[in-house]
Amino acid sequence: MRILVISDIHANLDAFDAVLQDANGQWDYVWCLGDVVGYGPDPNECVERLRELPHLCLAGNHDWAALGRLDLNSFNPEARHAVGWTSGALSGNSRVWLEALQTTFVAGDFTLAHGSPREPVWEYIFEASVAAQNFPHFETPFCLVGHTHQPAIYEQQNGPGSVDMVLPDPRQRRQLNGRRQIINPGSLGQPRDQNPRAAYALLDLPDGVWEYRRVAYDVNAVQDRMRREDFPERLVRRLEYGW
Ligand code: ZN
Repeated sequence: MRILVISDIHANLDAFDAVLQDANGQWDYVWCLGDVVGYGPDPNECVERLRELPHLCLAGNHDWAALGRLDLNSFNPEARHAVGWTSGALSGNSRVWLEALQTTFVAGDFTLAHGSPREPVWEYIFEASVAAQNFPHFETPFCLVGHTHQPAIYEQQNGPGSVDMVLPDPRQRRQLNGRRQIINPGSLGQPRDQNPRAAYALLDLPDGVWEYRRVAYDVNAVQDRMRREDFPERLVRRLEYGW
């Protein structure tokens, strides 16, 4: 069984389709770690595309914000604008589907969450010290998270507070065994590691082999749609910088 692991699609259909094409026929099931909508111009199209696939999807903070479930004061002005636009654009079907998303899921050796196992919708795991605090909050050997839009692997060393951060190399197959790990596949639709290409991963089960990948997509096409809808220019431009 091979899992296509994606996160933070952020209503970017061109990036989503580029990933599906790149991973063509190499997976059986999709795990999506949340933020299907928000920021991008294609919220309903991305929900529909995901719903066509055999999948499991968790709720992210932008999914909840678009449903009016979160206080928007914690969002910056551009993000707030995107939430307002997304809220108005969501179809009834998309809304019902987003409403039903759960915040964590355990599948075999893997715990899944959008942000962290401790605070599934909100917490960012940007550094080893925060990852270390999160290892006691899940019971499986591995945890998959998104939310930061930056690919990373946090590996627990000997001793409970000791965690190493590893930045994975694309297209290198990494055997997951021995040590507990928190793994982030990066963002499919709005990367923030100064690499504009869509990020995703393939996970072989039950062997536990992780392969992280990047794929180029038509950034200009997405930017054109955003400009037609008067998205803030900073949100439009960040797609080409990967930030
Ligand atoms: Zn996100």
